Amino acid sequence: MRRTIVEYPHPVLKQRAVELNDFGPSLHALLDDLFETMKAADGIGLAAPQVGESVRAFIVDVENTPGSVREFINPECIEMKGKIAFEEGCLSFPGLTETIPRAKNVTILYQDRHGKKQRFEAEGLLAVAIQHEYDHLDGVLFIERLPFWKRLWRKVSMNNR
Ligand SMILES: [Zn+2]
Repeated sequence: MRRTIVEYPHPVLKQRAVELNDFGPSLHALLDDLFETMKAADGIGLAAPQVGESVRAFIVDVENTPGSVREFINPECIEMKGKIAFEEGCLSFPGLTETIPRAKNVTILYQDRHGKKQRFEAEGLLAVAIQHEYDHLDGVLFIERLPFWKRLWRKVSMNNR
């Protein structure tokens, strides 16, 4: 089922999402809904809080081929290395893109939809997408990852409108 994507400044986007411990049908339905909603919106990642569910789950799909979607439940980034910057967008901020500095490589521990513990290493765009969605689980939005001077400039230019 396609869900409505919650947009900034909805308060659920600023909450710390809670751990999941039920890996039954309701979680599977949520993950399937995230996939359908993300595809319909042409996104490469979507986190549960973006459909109003404050739980620690997100999906990413940068390859966009059948079966290439990756699901992360209760994730924990254990290592981040290198530097990269991509022009990022967010389905909760329609029309806005910003170049955000991120780690180039990320190692993540997580559980799959059956509760099995997994480990995954990602690089490049996939690593960026993982970091972006992971942030959503902690209520951190991509614009908050902008360098300080850029955030300041945005504030000044908005105040002068
Ligand atoms: Zn986002």
